[in-house]
Amino acid sequence: MNYRNFPMVPRVIFGRGSFNQLNDIIAPKRLSVNAPFIFLVDDIFKNNNWLSSRIPTSYDDRIIYISANEEPRTSQVDELVEDIILNTKERPSGIIGIGGGTILDLAKAVSIMITNKGEAKDYQGWDLVKNPAIYHVGIPTISGTGAEVSRTTVLTGPERKLGINSDYTPFDQVVLDSELTKDVPTEQWFYTGMDCYIHCIESLTGTYLNAFSQSYGDMALQLCEEIFLTDTLSSVDAQEKLMMASWHGGMSIAYSQVGVAHAMSYGLSYLLGTRHGIGNCIVFNHLEEFYPEGVKVFKAMKKKHNIVLPKGICANLSDREFDIMINISLSLEPLWENALGKNWKKIMTPKKLKELYQKM
Ligand code: NAD
Ligand code: ZN
Repeated sequence: MNYRNFPMVPRVIFGRGSFNQLNDIIAPKRLSVNAPFIFLVDDIFKNNNWLSSRIPTSYDDRIIYISANEEPRTSQVDELVEDIILNTKERPSGIIGIGGGTILDLAKAVSIMITNKGEAKDYQGWDLVKNPAIYHVGIPTISGTGAEVSRTTVLTGPERKLGINSDYTPFDQVVLDSELTKDVPTEQWFYTGMDCYIHCIESLTGTYLNAFSQSYGDMALQLCEEIFLTDTLSSVDAQEKLMMASWHGGMSIAYSQVGVAHAMSYGLSYLLGTRHGIGNCIVFNHLEEFYPEGVKVFKAMKKKHNIVLPKGICANLSDREFDIMINISLSLEPLWENALGKNWKKIMTPKKLKELYQKM
């Protein structure tokens, strides 16, 4: 057995209002007055003075507002890197992502591609990155994906939706300030929060489970159940708990894997552009066969928060489109092996997968 030696986020600050300390955190990391910090910020905050006025820029620092309406693409990373290189006098001192999983993943990918030749698509996969990334900081404004703590940045490329998984991907610094999540709309709070819940279920029921993953998964699952079965979104306590659930959920899958819901939702995302959180929910709703207890509790949470999921999203797809989705999904072999064991190909045939998609 060859055990994997994973890096972790080396520095994290936690606390309501800790965003105000950002300047103190990054100032010592400034390489020179000509080496700016680049802030990649969800454009939902563009006219939000409460947040944007507190982004600590000086010298040539830049704020680039980015829409999270679409999930990150490899070509988008390449364009951002080109723009940053062309418009800075020296290599930037760091990249700071402020937003949800979309912006956090972009920040990670851009920091990698500033020091690595070629295009982002060349690095989708496992351990293909050659040079360390530049300093990068993650500041989540919505909780659930675990992107703040994970070793991957999930990108949609020309051929597949797949992460850049590498030792250089994790952030050098994370700021966990739950106050930044206070205005997340209920539905989005549910969808992104359920990403965390589903990470837990897939990790805890998977064949890759070990005590490391279980300890984080159990903690995150307990927090999710407290939050989504009893608390309300608006309570400070719930916001803080979900921030930590996301962290633990991300740590849980670091040393295991996700499963059926993620494998299928990647297919939906690639073909239909379905967003990660809602896509996972649409799929998970139909996975009683694989996760009976997890789906039962999920349905109770859905009911408690009056969430109505879209129906019939695969109703009008052609056979060719189903095949594209099925191929993307089945290519994620570690996810299927974690969920169903070494003989997963006997259980999850293309025909069976199509029947599942047809229910959605
Ligand atoms: P997101 O970043 O796309 O944000 C969802 C929506 O919430 C957007 O409309 C955004 O503008 C809005 N939003 C964010 N913060 C807000 C706030 N404070 N107030 C109001 N609105 C706010 O969604 P997400 O679910 O966080 O991330 C999904 C992405 O994360 C996908 O691209 C997925 O592939 C990726 N992901 C990555 C990992 C990883 O380990 N790297 C893990 C899971 C998912
Ligand atoms: Zn996920």
